[in-house]
Amino acid sequence: MLIVNAEIDGRCGQDVRSLEGIIQEIGPDLPLHPGEDVFDARGGALLPGLNDHHMHLFALAAAESSVRCGPPEVANEEELAAALALPGSGWLRGIGYHPSVAGDLTRDDLDRWVPDRPVRIEHRSGKMWMVNSPAAAQLRLDEEPDIPGIERDAGGRPTGRLFRLGDWIRSRLGTRTFPDLSAVSLRLAGYGVTGVSDANPTIAGDAVHELARNHSAGALLQRVQVMGGLDVRVPAEGLVNLGPVKLHLDEDRLPDFDQLVSKMARAHGNGRPVALHCVTRTELIFALTALQEAGPLPGDRIEHASLTPDASLTLMQQTGVTVVTQPGFVFERGDQYLSDVASEEQPLLYRCRSFLRHGIPLGGSTDTPYGLPDPWGAMRAAVHRRTATGSRLGQDETLSPEEALALFTSPLEAPGAPPRRVEVGAVADLCLLSRRWKEARTRLLASDVAATFRDGQRIFAR
Ligand SMILES: [Zn+2]
Repeated sequence: MLIVNAEIDGRCGQDVRSLEGIIQEIGPDLPLHPGEDVFDARGGALLPGLNDHHMHLFALAAAESSVRCGPPEVANEEELAAALALPGSGWLRGIGYHPSVAGDLTRDDLDRWVPDRPVRIEHRSGKMWMVNSPAAAQLRLDEEPDIPGIERDAGGRPTGRLFRLGDWIRSRLGTRTFPDLSAVSLRLAGYGVTGVSDANPTIAGDAVHELARNHSAGALLQRVQVMGGLDVRVPAEGLVNLGPVKLHLDEDRLPDFDQLVSKMARAHGNGRPVALHCVTRTELIFALTALQEAGPLPGDRIEHASLTPDASLTLMQQTGVTVVTQPGFVFERGDQYLSDVASEEQPLLYRCRSFLRHGIPLGGSTDTPYGLPDPWGAMRAAVHRRTATGSRLGQDETLSPEEALALFTSPLEAPGAPPRRVEVGAVADLCLLSRRWKEARTRLLASDVAATFRDGQRIFAR
C-alpha cells in the first residue's frame, strides 16, 4: 500500500509505503511499485490508529439490539414503561439503567410494566441486572440455593436484582451464541480505531475463539487485547493478544485482602500485570495498598480511577501504576455527577492533568457500551471538560488536544506510554483525517476520519 500526499507531524506532501503491515518508507514523491495499491490522502493528517484501552466488544454488539433504559433517552418512570412496551414475547434486554429514572428496581416494579414476557435490564455500571418474574422463572431464580450476588428480601425471596452475575445468566439461559461483531467493528473503524482492549474480567476460551473466528472471517477489523482471568489462553498467532489480569473491586463486597494480594502475586508470577477496577475512593485505596503488598509489576493498571483524592496520587506514583480513564463520562454523565456528587469531590472525578503532573502514565478509553464508543468525544471532553448541558467539571484537569489524542495512541500493551508515531519500522495501523491536524485539533470530530488502516490494509474509507 502506498498512501500519497499526507501530512505527518506537520510536514505536508508525505508518502507512506507499507509492506506486510510495516511502514517501510516515508518521504515526498515515493515511486509507485508494480502492483501496489495507492490511496490519496488529499493532504489530510496521518495519525497512528486509535487504541481504545478499555471497552467490552460483545456487550457493545449485544447493546445494538437492546432497549435503552437510562438517560438521556429515558429519564423517568413513564418513559421507561413506554420504552419497555414493545411487541413480542421473547426476552427483552434493556441497558443503561440508572436509579435516577425510577429508583432501585425490583422484579415487582418490572412486573407492573411487563408482566408477560421475560425482561432483564442492566444497570449502566454493568455490575447489576434486574429481572422481572417471568425472567426469574426462566432463570429458576426461586429454586436457586445461596449463590452470592442474588439479592433477597427479608423473607429470603429473590428481589430480581442480580449482582455480577452476567455470565451466570448467560450460562443459565444456555445462550452460547455470540452477537455479530461486524457492524460494531466497522463503526469503530470509522472512528479510526485499530485496536481495543476487551476488559471483560471473565472472558473465556469460547469467547476468545469467537474473536479469532471473527478475525479470520473479516468481521472483526481491530486487533484485540483480552484481559480476563489468569486461566484465559489466546492463540499463539493472530490478532488476539493477552493483556493484564482483570481484578474487580466492589466497595460493597471487597475481597479478602490477603486473597487479593495472592491473586496479584500469582498474576505477576505468570508475567501478567493486573488491571484493577476502581471507581470509588475506598476501592482505589484498597487496590493500591494490596498492590504495594504484592509488589508492583510494570504494566499494572487502575481502570477508571473515577474518584482520586490527592493523597492517592502520591501512592499511585510510588507503585508505578498506569491509569486508564474515561474522560467521555465528563460529557455523558457530568450533569448527573454535578447533582449527585458532593461539591468538594467533584474536582476529583475522572482527573487527567493531575495524573500527568504526577508522572502517572495515563491511557484513554470509552468503556463502551457503558460509554459512547466514539474516542473523539472522549478527547473533546478531556480538552473542554464540559458536560452535555455545557457545565464545566474539573476545569483544572483539562488536557491539550495533543495530550488528549495521546491517550488513545499509546500502544495497546502499554496505555500511557509515549504515543506511537507514523515512522519507518512501525506497524501500519493508521488513521487518516480529512484535514490537516492544525485545523482538526480544535474540533476533534470523528467525522474527520477519512480512512483507517490496520496492518497496512484499508479497513475503512469514507
Ligand atoms: Zn468496563
